[in-house]
Order: sequence, then structure tokens, then C-alpha cells
Amino acid sequence: MSEINLTGERKLLFQAQSEKLAKKFSSRRISFYPCYDKDEAQKKVLQLVREFKFENSETKVGFADSVTLHQLDIFNQIKKIGGINIINPLARNEDGKYVIFGKQPSGKMNLPRDEYYALMEKLWQSMRESLLTDIFVIGANAITMKGQIVSTDGTGNRVGGMIFGPRKVIIVVGRNKICRDVDEAIKRNRDIAAPLNYYRHNIKHHNRFDNPCMKLGYCVDCNSPRRGCLKTVIIDGEMEGFKDRTHLILVNENLGF
Ligand code: SF4
Repeated sequence: MSEINLTGERKLLFQAQSEKLAKKFSSRRISFYPCYDKDEAQKKVLQLVREFKFENSETKVGFADSVTLHQLDIFNQIKKIGGINIINPLARNEDGKYVIFGKQPSGKMNLPRDEYYALMEKLWQSMRESLLTDIFVIGANAITMKGQIVSTDGTGNRVGGMIFGPRKVIIVVGRNKICRDVDEAIKRNRDIAAPLNYYRHNIKHHNRFDNPCMKLGYCVDCNSPRRGCLKTVIIDGEMEGFKDRTHLILVNENLGF
């Protein structure tokens, strides 16, 4: 037997974790769906969107930025479902600039301040619209073995929609996001997710993040003006009246960071 293929071991651990997580999330009124790979997860998201969409009127689906969702190619797949109006404020062109900014010269944006803020106003407005959609499809930074969902944002557009606004919330996370408890989840969000996200934005989206964790490799709880880890939300569950609102899909693959 190959010693380098750990598929069987991974599957057994995932089964054990999923069994425990299913009980924990169920007790917190969050629907939980373990999926063995990206294809299964993609099918599950599409099935839920079809189930939740309105029969006779347009359904608004909101997106927030998520590497996991890009890896699932979920944006393109949901577009194929009829009767859906997608609100994706953070959609980007091939060159990394926001679609909502319209055509821009290549390279880093170097607009006068007032022109830049006018474009940003359009972005904020679209972000606000995404918070009142019918279905919100997103990733999360971490889940805990106690059945909590822990995410950290800069602006709060993603965590805001998770906790209130959209009628239904579909969250997709890879197995790499499983943490023992909230402390471990917050540490993971800051030591790993935050610096990787800053580098992602610098490399792909013309940003200029320069926070201490990017050089040190761990968080020092800084107060940088470009800090993007400002709003941490811990979802401990849904109230009884909203027990069919949050749907969590856990995938037995490493997705996002
Ligand atoms: S608080 Fe500062 S050092 Fe820590 S993760 Fe956030 S930006 Fe990085």
C-alpha cells in the first residue's frame, strides 16, 4: 500500500468529525451537510439555491468575497439557474479590478482622491444591497468542533450578511477550517487567514497591505490603518424561529485559507 496516499485516513477522520459536528450544529439549529469533495459540495449548493429560490418571482442571490467559492466555480454555476439576480459587489475583472469600477487603465489605480471615493461609493452601495438579498452564499474562516462558525472581516460585509439580512445563508468551508474551539479559530484567522488574504489582495488586486503579520508570520494584534481583521463574528446558532436559515456545507478538501 502506498504510504503517501492518505485518502483513506482523511476520509475516516472526516467521517468522525462530521458525525460529531452534525450533532453539534443540529443542536444549534444550523443545517449541516458533509460533502466528500468539491463536486459534491457544488451540487449541494446548487440544490439548496434551487430549493430556496422563489417560484414566480426573481430571487436575489448575494455573494461576498471567498476563495473557497471561487474554487467551487459556484458563481458561474448559479448564473445558469434561471430567475436569479446575482448581487456580487466584489466581482473582479481579469486584471483584478472591481467590475463595478468600469473600465480603468492597466496597472495600479492612481486616481485623484475624489474620483476614487466616488467609485468606492458605488462599491459600498452594492455591498449594502447584497445584505438584503434572498440567499447569501459565502465562505467562513473557521468552524469549531463545538458547532460554532467564526469569521473575521475588515468592512463587515460578509459577517454582516451571515448574521442578519438575507433570508437564507449558505456557507461553504473546507476541512482545513475545522478548529477545536473559538480561541483556536480566532488565532487561526489572524495567524493564517489574515496575512494570506493581504498577500492575495496585493498580488492579485493591486492593494498595498503592509501589516506586521505578513512579515512575521503571526499576529501581533497591531493597530495598522490597513488592518483588515477588525470585525470578528461568532455564530453560536440560530433562534428557533430562524432554524432553517443557516446551511453549512463542510467539504473533505482543503479550500481557501
Ligand atoms: S491584528 Fe495586525 S498583525 Fe494581527 S492579523 Fe490583524 S493585521 Fe495582522
